[in-house]
Amino acid sequence: MARPRQISRVQIPPRVKGFIPVGYYKDQSEPVQLNIEEYEAIRLLDYEGLSQEGAAKIMQISRPTLTRIYERARKKVATVLTEAQQLIIEGGNVLFNGNWYECEKCNSTFNSPAESTVKTCPLCGSGNIQHKEG
Ligand SMILES: [Zn+2]
Repeated sequence: MARPRQISRVQIPPRVKGFIPVGYYKDQSEPVQLNIEEYEAIRLLDYEGLSQEGAAKIMQISRPTLTRIYERARKKVATVLTEAQQLIIEGGNVLFNGNWYECEKCNSTFNSPAESTVKTCPLCGSGNIQHKEG
């Protein structure tokens, strides 16, 4: 049974869309897809050295959910390294911190799902929107 997926908060989007192995790769195979929350779990736990408890707080998800995301992420990275696969970083169920906007006209608050810049309010179409911190 599929559980409802929790939305993870992500502090910084990944800098690249993926990685290609040097020297050899199985170019006819599908690249391994690491989604954004899996990337963020590895960044917080392995790069920043946070505890699972600390990372779960930052991503605003439960600790068991973080553990599941992290285990999936590690398995994918291990597959990429061992099988010389390409890695694509995309997809996921996330909100980026700092990408919140407020419409001056209709006073709605909304979030941009990617690093793209929002120019108009998705609810009333007004261009009079303010970027909010946090
Ligand atoms: Zn509006």
